[in-house]
Amino acid sequence: MFDKILIANRGEIALRILRACKELGIAAVAVHSTADADAMHVRLADESVCIGPPAGKDSYLNIPSLLAACEITGAEAVHPGYGFLSENARFAEILEEHNIAFIGPTAEHIRIMGDKIEAKRTAKALGIPVVPGSEGAVTSDAQARAVAEETGYPVLIKAAAGGGGRGMKVARSPEELPEALASARAESKAAFGDDALYMEKYLGRPRHIEVQVMGDGQGNAIHLGERDCSIQRRHQKVWEEAPSPALNADERHRIGEICANAVAKLGYRGAGTIEFLYENGEFFFIEMNTRIQVEHPVTEMITDIDLVIEQIRVAAGAPLSLTQKEVQFSGHAIECRVNAEDPDTFRPSPGKIKYFHTPGGLGVRVDSGAYQGYTIPSHYDSLIGKLIVHGKNRNECLMRLRRALGEFVIDGIDTTLPLLRRLAEHDDMINGTYDIHWLENLLKKP
Ligand code: ADP
Repeated sequence: MFDKILIANRGEIALRILRACKELGIAAVAVHSTADADAMHVRLADESVCIGPPAGKDSYLNIPSLLAACEITGAEAVHPGYGFLSENARFAEILEEHNIAFIGPTAEHIRIMGDKIEAKRTAKALGIPVVPGSEGAVTSDAQARAVAEETGYPVLIKAAAGGGGRGMKVARSPEELPEALASARAESKAAFGDDALYMEKYLGRPRHIEVQVMGDGQGNAIHLGERDCSIQRRHQKVWEEAPSPALNADERHRIGEICANAVAKLGYRGAGTIEFLYENGEFFFIEMNTRIQVEHPVTEMITDIDLVIEQIRVAAGAPLSLTQKEVQFSGHAIECRVNAEDPDTFRPSPGKIKYFHTPGGLGVRVDSGAYQGYTIPSHYDSLIGKLIVHGKNRNECLMRLRRALGEFVIDGIDTTLPLLRRLAEHDDMINGTYDIHWLENLLKKP
C-alpha cells in the first residue's frame, strides 16, 4: 500500500479523497492554487503545496507543478479526482515515467474511452448495446444521407472529440441534414480543433442511466448497480438517484452483468462509469467515464462500499476486496447538487458564506468543503457541496430528503437550494416519471 498520496484536485472531491486516505492511514498531500489557500482539505491535509495562481491551467492543470509537488513531498501516488487531469492519458503516462502511481486506469484505457468513436467501437466489441448509427466517422454528406436512411430520422450528429454536449446537432429530415452537418463540423472544429463527426439515431425521451463498475486490472470486475441521472440542465446533472425508478430487478441485473463482463474482458483497472440512454426498455451506450464521478456517493450509500478506498487499493496492485456475489444492495439513495448560483437564472454566485448549517440525522450525508466564513472563489465550478440521503425505500428517502433540504441553511450567497426543494415536492419526482428533458421543460414554464 502507498504511504503518501497527493490529491490533484480541489473542493469537495479533494476532501472526499482526503477522508479515504485518513481511514487507510495514508499521509495526504493537498495541492492548491493561491485562491484555495483557505480550503478545508488544505487545512486538514498532512502537508500542502501551493502550485500556482488561480486559473486552472496555471495550477490544477499544470503538470510540471504537480510533478514538482510530488518530488518535494515524496508522494508515491496521485489521485486526480474528477475533472481537471482525471481523464488526461498523457498525465497518467508522465506519472508512470516518474514512478508515481496514477490512481485510475491505464493511459491506454483512458485514451480509448476519450475518443468517442473508438469508445463506441470498443463497447460494441465487448458486447455493450450501442445507439444505432454510423460505423465510425462520417466523412461525406452522401455517407451521412445513407446512414440516416438506414437508422431513420431524426438523427443526431456528434463530434468525435465532443464533450459537454458541444458539436451536437439534430436533423429531423433529409432537408435538414446538410445544414446540421455543416454547423456540427464548424462547432466541433472551433471547440476541439477537430471536425470528425459520427451519427446516431436521435432518441426522443430517454433517461440517463449509468452503471458503476470497478476492475482490478487483473481480469476481475464487478458492477455496483446503476444511477439514474436524468435530471439535468444543460447536460449538467442536478439530482441523481440509485436504484433507478425506471428499472426492474431483471433489467438491472442484465445491464450490470453486461458491464462487469465487458470491463473484465478489457482488463480495466479502477472505477469507471458506463453511461447509457434508456428508452422503451432498451439501453444504448453513450460513453464511459474513466474516473470517480461526482455522484458516486449514491452508489456508496446503497452498497456500503467506499469507492475511493477501493480505487486506492486496486491502484496499489491489490485485487478487488469483494466479489459480485458479496455486493449487497440496500434501500434507496438520492444526491442533490447544491450550487452557488441564482436558482432562477443560474448565474454563478461566488462570495463569502456568512452562515452555514448542514442537515444531519439518520441517513443524511453532506459532502462539502464549505464552512461558515468560507469564500467561494469565482475561478472554478459553482458546486458548494452535495446532499446525499439514504432510506429503506424511495419513499422514505424522499421524506428524509425534504426534511434535510429544509434544515440546510447557506446565507450570504445565492444557492440552488430553493430549486432542489421544489423538485423534492414535485409529483413527477415523487412518482419517478421523468426523462432527460423534464427539468429543462419545468424551467421553461413561468
Ligand atoms: P458529451 O460528451 O458531449 O456530453 P454525450 O454523448 O455524453 O456527449 O451526450 C450528452 C447528452 O446528449 C446525453 O446525456 C443526452 O442528453 C444527449 N444525447 C446523446 N446522444 C443522444 C442520442 N443518440 N439521442 C438523444 N440524445 C442524446
